[in-house]
Amino acid sequence: MSDRPADPLACPTCGDPLSFEILDDEKFLVAWSCVNCGLVRTTEPT
Ligand SMILES: [Zn+2]
Repeated sequence: MSDRPADPLACPTCGDPLSFEILDDEKFLVAWSCVNCGLVRTTEPT
């Protein structure tokens, strides 16, 4: 019974939704940041 399904865009630390910022359009490099706890992750899909 969860009203909060697993969200790939949720902060792994606090569970808040992450906001993303495109760092490099050509390399698809994206920074995900959490406004709540300050977590920042970068993803670079192959
Ligand atoms: Zn967070």
